[in-house]
Order: sequence, then structure tokens, then C-alpha cells
Amino acid sequence: MARNIARLLLLPGDGIGPEVMAEVGRVIDWLGTRRGLGFATETALVGGASLDAHAVPLTDATLARAQAVDAVLFGAVGGPRWDRNPFHLKPEQGLLRLRKELGLFANLRPAVCFPALADASSLKRELVEGLDIMILRELTGGVYFGEPRGIEILPDGQKRAVDTQVYTSGEIERIGRVAFELARKRRNKVCSVEKANVMHTGVLWREVMTALGAQDYPDVELSHMYADNCAMQLVRAPKQFDVIVTDNLFGDLLSDCAAMLTGSLGMLPSASLGAVDAQGRRRALYEPVHGSAPDIAGQGVANPIAMLASFAMMLRYSFDLAEDADRLEAAIAAVLARGLRTADIMQPGMTRVSTEAMGAAILAELDRL
Ligand code: NAD
Repeated sequence: MARNIARLLLLPGDGIGPEVMAEVGRVIDWLGTRRGLGFATETALVGGASLDAHAVPLTDATLARAQAVDAVLFGAVGGPRWDRNPFHLKPEQGLLRLRKELGLFANLRPAVCFPALADASSLKRELVEGLDIMILRELTGGVYFGEPRGIEILPDGQKRAVDTQVYTSGEIERIGRVAFELARKRRNKVCSVEKANVMHTGVLWREVMTALGAQDYPDVELSHMYADNCAMQLVRAPKQFDVIVTDNLFGDLLSDCAAMLTGSLGMLPSASLGAVDAQGRRRALYEPVHGSAPDIAGQGVANPIAMLASFAMMLRYSFDLAEDADRLEAAIAAVLARGLRTADIMQPGMTRVSTEAMGAAILAELDRL
């Protein structure tokens, strides 16, 4: 009998979202029958699917369910059907509301290069083979939210646009803590990235990170780097990094840059974490980086690996099931090493498989490991 260890809310969404989520469903079943780990799952609509059924991209009832469970697993939202909707009725608003209401301030974007895919990177094999770095982006502060913001018309008829980069020491400290804790579970190195040479927020960022490291995490190696240099280093020698922690804007750019070191969008997982609540639970949402891919939706060809790797992150970060997360990641690596490929990562001489066949091969590998 499987022991119930957690409640999960599955939000498959639109396009390929439900197709890749179905493969996670099979892994959840496998964990129940083979490992005795029972997840109580509920499924709800989000994005375009929710708009069609309820006229909003996220209902209050679904939000309440997201707040009640131990973790949320999100597929993808969006598609041409809803592109002409007014801004507040776009499918993406469902995701933005979830992030805001759950207070998800820490965005984890790992960049891991599977040996079998090293040749698919835009960098040379020796630079990316064995790459395993984590970019931690602050997600709810900084220039995307700072006030004042807007566009005004000046007396001389010109327009003037303003965005404000703003961080409090409390906001920096809470993302800093996540970085140090992550590093302790990895290779124990944090690189804090800002532009203290030209920005006041950068000066404060460096000051807070330095004090936090010295006071509470003296065992973790802390270094500092300017964001422009970090961009260069990521494409020059990415393996020098372990955990990179940075603000919302720099994190947006640097995480996309790091992502491309590893090949396809169909391979990239992510996690967004919030604060720890009174019961000791950390709010969390796990999702692939890719969108709903309307160009291939319904064809059974989507790569389920980003979704499955997001689920592995959930096992590791929400439930401390590092061994099961490692096993799922090892199964993915083994299937790739055997030459199975979905269309997006297809290479000459490899075997092209469907979404379902990729999921089945990973399950078979889990049985073997
Ligand atoms: P996309 O990520 O959906 O697709 C970009 C390209 O990558 C497409 O050619 C697609 O076929 C391919 N691709 C993506 N995921 C794949 C996978 N798992 N397997 C194989 N190929 C894959 O981005 P887009 O085309 O810019 O956007 C499509 C829709 O998704 C839009 O409505 C957009 O707003 C939305 N979107 C949603 C999210 C999200 O839900 N978090 C993120 C990005 C885009």
C-alpha cells in the first residue's frame, strides 16, 4: 500500500501541457506502486482551458486549491485562440496570478547538460559536457514591479518612460538564504551577481549577501560578479559556477542564456518557491520553461522531459526525496544515452520517438535502475 505523503495540484493547461502532464501521471503511479510513495492528486483547469469553461484564466476556487496543497505542478498555457483577448483575459494571467498569490519569490532554473546531448549545444562539447549549474532569480521585486513606473507626456510633447529598480534588504536576504541553502545541497558555492559598480541596488545587494554569508553560512564559498561579466563567463566557462543568485531583471536574461547552453526548450525544468508557512511548508510551483507549443499540440510529438524534470525538482525541493529525484534524472539520462529522441532533440543516427514512447522508455528505465 502506498503511504500518502503529499497533496498535489496538477494544472495541465493548454496545447502540449496536457500531453506532457500525462507522462508525469504515469511516473506518479509508478512511485505509488513501486516505491510506496502515494501522492494525492487533483487536477484543475488553467489558462485558455479555464477561460473556455469559466471565462477567467484562473478561478478563485482553483487558486484556493493551489494554496491548500503541498505543491503545484503546472504544464503550459496560451495559444492563438486567446491571443486577441484583452490583457486581463489572456491565459498567461492565470500563471501570473498564481505566482503573485502564492508569493513565489525564488525562481530556480537549473542548466544541466546531459552527456548524450552535449553536441546539441551551441558551445563546444568540452565546455558544456557535465554542466550542472543553478540560476536563482528573484521573482517578485526589482525593476518589473518598482514604483514609480509608466509613460508620461512632457510639456514639450515628448514622451518619458520610467521603470524603477528597487530592493529592500529583507528581499535580498530572503533570496540570499535560498541560494546558500541550495548550495549546501550541491557543490557549496554561491556567486552573487549584480552591478554594484553603477547601481545602488547592486551596492545594497552585495552588502546584504556578504553579511548574510559571513554570519549564517560561513561554510559556503561566496563570490561576487558584475552581471555583464557573468553573461560573458556563462558562454566562456560555464562550469566554473554552482549556484548563481541574482535579481529579477538580470536573472531573466542570464537564465535564458544559461538555458541555451544545454540544447532544447523541451529539456528545461523550473521551480518557483515562496516563503515557509506556519506549518513548515514552503509554497512551490514546478513547471517546464517552455510554453504550450501550439505548432505541435495534439500530435503526440512533444518532449515530456522538461515536465518530468520539473517533477523531479518537486521531489527534491518540496519533499526531500533526493534519491527518487536522482533516480528519475538518471532514467532520463539513460534513455537519451540509448539514442531515443523526440523530434525537437533529434540527431542523425538516433531513434525518433513520440511523447508517450519517451515516457514509457523512462518508466522502463526506472524499473531497471
Ligand atoms: P513555446 O515554448 O510554446 O514554443 C517555442 C518552440 O519550441 C515551438 O516551436 C515549439 O514547438 C517548441 N517546443 C516548446 N516546448 C516543446 C516541447 N516540450 N517539445 C518539443 N518542442 C517544444 O513558445 P511560443 O511558441 O513562443 O509560445 C506559444 C504559446 O505559449 C504562447 O501563447 C505563449 O504566450 C505561451 N507561453 C506560455 C508559457 C507558460 O505557460 N509558462 C511560457 C512561454 C510561452
